[in-house]
Amino acid sequence: MSSFFDTKIEFLKGVGPQKAELLNKELGLFTYGDLLDYYPFRHEDRSKFHRISELEEEMFAAQIKGRLKSLEVIGEGRKQRMIADFTDGSGTIELVWFQGISWFQKSLKVNNEYLVYGKPAFFGGKYQITHPEIEPLVQNASQAGHFQPIYSLTERLRKKYIESKQISKWMRTLLEMSNPYISETLPQSLMQKFRLWPKKNALWGLHLPNTYEDLHQAQRRLKFEELFYNQLRLLKQQLLRKTDYPGQVFNKARLITEFYENHLPFDLTGAQKRVIKEIFGDLKSGKQMNRLIQGDVGSGKTIVAFISMLSAIDGNAQACLMAPTEILAFQHFNNLQKYSEKLNLKIAILTGSSTKKARTEIHEGLLNGSINIIVGTHALLENIVQFNNLGICVIDEQHRFGVAQRARLWEKNKYLHPHIMVMTATPIPRTLAMTLYGDLDISEIDEMPPGRKPIKTVHRYDANRLQVFQFMRDEIAKGRQIYVVYPLIEESEKLDLKNLFDGYESIERAFPNSAISIVHGKMKPKDKDFEMARFKKGETDIMVATTVIEVGVDVPNASVMVIENAERFGLAQLHQLRGRVGRGADQSYCILITTYKLSKDTRKRIETMVMTENGFEISQVDLELRGPGDMAGTQQSGLVDLRLANLAKDGEILKIARETAIEILSQDPNLDFEDNLPIKRHIDKIKNKEMSWSRIS
Ligand code: ADP
Ligand code: MG
Repeated sequence: MSSFFDTKIEFLKGVGPQKAELLNKELGLFTYGDLLDYYPFRHEDRSKFHRISELEEEMFAAQIKGRLKSLEVIGEGRKQRMIADFTDGSGTIELVWFQGISWFQKSLKVNNEYLVYGKPAFFGGKYQITHPEIEPLVQNASQAGHFQPIYSLTERLRKKYIESKQISKWMRTLLEMSNPYISETLPQSLMQKFRLWPKKNALWGLHLPNTYEDLHQAQRRLKFEELFYNQLRLLKQQLLRKTDYPGQVFNKARLITEFYENHLPFDLTGAQKRVIKEIFGDLKSGKQMNRLIQGDVGSGKTIVAFISMLSAIDGNAQACLMAPTEILAFQHFNNLQKYSEKLNLKIAILTGSSTKKARTEIHEGLLNGSINIIVGTHALLENIVQFNNLGICVIDEQHRFGVAQRARLWEKNKYLHPHIMVMTATPIPRTLAMTLYGDLDISEIDEMPPGRKPIKTVHRYDANRLQVFQFMRDEIAKGRQIYVVYPLIEESEKLDLKNLFDGYESIERAFPNSAISIVHGKMKPKDKDFEMARFKKGETDIMVATTVIEVGVDVPNASVMVIENAERFGLAQLHQLRGRVGRGADQSYCILITTYKLSKDTRKRIETMVMTENGFEISQVDLELRGPGDMAGTQQSGLVDLRLANLAKDGEILKIARETAIEILSQDPNLDFEDNLPIKRHIDKIKNKEMSWSRIS
């Protein structure tokens, strides 16, 4: 079915076949509908004018009214450029062009007045704007007082003078023609409830806003729509899974009561209790659980996992825990074994290095049901590993395992799939988690066990290194151990390694009486393990390392973390590194060493580290600084291709959109209500579009 919006773009007034072809090739815009959907990525406030005398280098852009004093072309060949002197009475700036010189030479006239827009740069004693936007000044016309939408364009388009202004003009023509055809995509009741603009107005407001308020309302409406449909889709998947997959009902309390009454090693935190309650709710619901447990390192996820396992074991089922590395698997095994022994439960560990004999025994024990809990690595996924009745799977460290592995564990019980609990120590903001793992329920352990001493974090400059060394000496004298971490990235590996070795040498010189270990990714695993073990046993005082120590190592006596070139680490990484200390009874420290010259973002990262230890707060700042595309695990999801909504800033809208989607689906799962008709129509439209795309590609 063809509609107004399928009309080829070349038929729009002023476009024509040649420009249409460019728009096809460069931006993938083919039809009226495509163009209308091509949102500006920002807007410039053109309601203000700047005086040349007030220009500052930090300005993102300036808009100046003035007169062209002179125009000359200098240089030859590739060095050729055109320079104009431009004045507004308060001062003079230079306008510079490297491209399109002959065109501008013809169209600009000395002594005429122009409106100029661009980023000022201070250069050779005066301000310049390179490749400014420039247009003749029209007295009291609509030049002032509006917002210029800025569209993402390519160099080739610019060479053909297709700029944001041009797109705006086409957009105005198109919007005027489209008015009768734009259909509403949200139910009336919903728009009333949240005072959202109609779609039609929102499109006008986004492409051609008159005021800031217009723009804000337009964005609010369109962001809501985007997030609402995003959540609706995820929730439908979730709903499908839940209705399709029943789960074993675990509601006995015998083992748990015994554990609580006789063996609980400490009082659970409020957050732990809350999360356990959420899990128990799932386990007795009759539906298969898919839950993500987020909690910082040290927040006490292990005992939550164990208590959940007890519920399954009480229901005559088995439990498994899968970790990404052998070290972590053993750590878990040792912890769980302590608890299991007290309850006479049988627990085993299976990894790549389990002996053949051990494997055979374990395989048997799992099949006949004599093993209650199995801990392991990927080795658990092998087909030969079969269970008598697998009831619950705990997966540690989400981002290292894919959905495929989750599915393989899930297949290990074909009658009633096991409940799945994914634990991650990389907290991400709820807004992002909801979008990324919208098919999982989410629990947060957002409270640390009591009695933990906060880690003191400070920022020091390179020039203060001697003081840092002195501090390290004092701590070593008290019997503490210290990490000194250097960045190492592939792109600058050679330099980074040299940096690491130089650092190692200077530490050797500065600490002649201390034993020093060095560990980096280029070492043989055997040598690495050997050095790690020495440090762990306390045979060395200082561990000089790259980020290889980020995962796995647990040395309670190490209480100082020195991070060199801290400006080169991301926030998540700094947080993970800091998590290596603060595990023992002593006061711990984290010292971030940087150069003097720091960018604004870097300063913010360092300040955040100094200010808070809360992983959720840190990840929120990280999200704001980097955007969701760069955060751990987002790439694989394909869900973060939101065009308008910013997950860092629009958490409030996302929350409402999600709640609304939940409410609508629970009342009207098939979207049959009259009021929900716009939703049904819009979903069909999206589906058709996706189908035709998949045919093309
Ligand atoms: P993580 O969330 O990093 O897996 P763990 O489960 O390993 O954290 O717990 C970290 C430490 O805190 C362990 O030594 C554990 O015994 C202890 N712990 C956990 N919960 C509590 C609590 N409620 N009170 C006191 N200590 C706790
Ligand atoms: Mg853990």
